[in-house]
Amino acid sequence: MEPSLPFPSACLSLWHRGTRSFPHLNANRLADVPNAIKYVVIGSGISGSLTAWKLIEGGAKGEEILILEAREAVSGASGRNAGHIRPDAFRGFLHYASLHGAEQAKKILENEKLVLQKIREFVQTHNIDSDFVDTTTLEVCLSQESADYQAKALAGYQAAGGDISQVQIHEGDEAKARTRVPNAIRAYEWPAASNNPAKLVQWILSDFIAKGGKLWTHCPVTRVTAHQARDTDARWDVHTARGTIAAETVIHCTNAYAGLLLPQLRTFIRPRRSQAKSFIPRSSLSGADALKKTMSLRYSAEHFFSVNPLRDGTIVIGGTGTRDGSNSEAEKWKALATFDDTGINDSLVRNSAREFANIASDSAAEPLRHGEGFDYAWTGILGITSDNAPVIGAVHGLEGQWVCAGFNGHGMAIIFTCAPGLARLVAGARWEETGLPECFQVGRLIKCVL
Ligand SMILES: Cc1cc2nc3c(=O)[nH]c(=O)nc-3n(C[C@H](O)[C@H](O)[C@H](O)COP(=O)(O)OP(=O)(O)OC[C@H]3O[C@@H](n4cnc5c(N)ncnc54)[C@H](O)[C@@H]3O)c2cc1C
Repeated sequence: MEPSLPFPSACLSLWHRGTRSFPHLNANRLADVPNAIKYVVIGSGISGSLTAWKLIEGGAKGEEILILEAREAVSGASGRNAGHIRPDAFRGFLHYASLHGAEQAKKILENEKLVLQKIREFVQTHNIDSDFVDTTTLEVCLSQESADYQAKALAGYQAAGGDISQVQIHEGDEAKARTRVPNAIRAYEWPAASNNPAKLVQWILSDFIAKGGKLWTHCPVTRVTAHQARDTDARWDVHTARGTIAAETVIHCTNAYAGLLLPQLRTFIRPRRSQAKSFIPRSSLSGADALKKTMSLRYSAEHFFSVNPLRDGTIVIGGTGTRDGSNSEAEKWKALATFDDTGINDSLVRNSAREFANIASDSAAEPLRHGEGFDYAWTGILGITSDNAPVIGAVHGLEGQWVCAGFNGHGMAIIFTCAPGLARLVAGARWEETGLPECFQVGRLIKCVL
């Protein structure tokens, strides 16, 4: 499929609707860009914002860094996800092992556990008001197929030396009681968090700007070309409709859109539209009975609903569930292969509403009051990679260009180590010093796409 810039009139997410007064939302929207700067970071999502922030922490001057964002600040997936920081505790092990080997699969899962710890520390250290809720998550098996697969994955991870000490298992009636989902067969539970992603990234951007960093919004980058003049250290010209910037270093944090400026990644990172919805719970899920743990209601690997109860009691449901059988699998994936995040899909709202009604359904007969039930839906674009691992590091053959992208709809549980790792690489560190799994290195693609 043809690469694309972000669509200009994207819908607003629940988080966007609640943060319209963010002072830097439309920063410099009418100003021409500076002529030259040391670092250009493309993208103001969690990858771009945190990489820029970490560059400053590592010693770069704020004044040397410019973030360019195609739309308003944090308008990509980071501002429109389901708010779930949910490390994969074991479930993906077999899949990752089949793609990258058991050792790398183990590292991928260990990295996710570390990410939760890093975000928790970050939010606490800086006293960030991002509605962070430190909790646990329940992986609810709703089919025997899913229960069998999870048991195999847990055993495989354990056999590979994976640490499962934080995973609790609830069987049968205990699973039903803990999850309040009547058809639960088994549930696994481990630490996770709920968080308002827009507020977190907006805090990072505000602090970056307070330290001298520059943010230009509504300023899509259309091309990056070699800088011809030899009068400065600049290596690249970054082209926008509001001028061209000469830069020494260009960092692509454009996730699903990476292939537009880096044609090498066009087939490797593909867009997939995802939808999230918010529900206002009925009284049986409110007050003292409000859900306190996040969940994934799992029918199969690709058929699941994530359930994230927010601090205010609202419940956000994400995931890829389609239960009405109206589409074939092929039709479903084709329809989702798009950069269009301007609208929503009604049938996915109906599917989620059905799952929502199933939670604590012992009292579902109680009629919904005006104001309860489905509240709002929004979409966003995921960056899906061919081997389910992100691409981090120096772009081969383009010295001074770097990439941090391809988070497979799971970036809140991955990026908080990748962006700091990339900032260290840019500052001269070796890969081993980042602590990241080797299979995240963009260099792995040289054989397959260059
Ligand atoms: C509906 C939905 C639900 C999700 N739920 C979860 C969840 O619960 N948990 C989880 O872990 N993950 C979830 N994700 C995935 C997660 O949001 C992403 O993995 C993560 O936000 C990616 O961050 P990023 O900074 O790499 O990309 P983005 O946030 O997409 O940032 C990229 C930015 O680059 C900008 N850009 C692109 N091209 C250009 C250009 N040429 N010039 C200028 N700017 C450009 C874009 O506008 C965008 O702002 C979800 C995603 C969606 C869409």
